Amino acid sequence: MSEVKECPWCGIEPRLFGKDKAQCINEFNCPNAYGRPIPLDEWQVRPIEDALRAENEALRRKIAQIHKIAKSSIYDEEGLLGDIEEITKQDSPSGERI
Ligand SMILES: [Zn+2]
Repeated sequence: MSEVKECPWCGIEPRLFGKDKAQCINEFNCPNAYGRPIPLDEWQVRPIEDALRAENEALRRKIAQIHKIAKSSIYDEEGLLGDIEEITKQDSPSGERI
């Protein structure tokens, strides 16, 4: 298994029980501190977080594309608007347009 993820409630590294369970021990700042040890195959699953990271990365790539076009087309207003519209027509992972 890859690196053990931080606690989803407070963000600190969990305490491991053997090789297959994790528990948060951040007793002062975590609502889940000293809760039941959670099997790592459950602890590592973060579907919303993973989807948001993927969407964030896709949006960063689009921003980089827009910056690149803006730098190369700054004196051509009609061409710049056409290129940006073409990029924003592409679907984001959430289906929203940027
Ligand atoms: Zn925690």
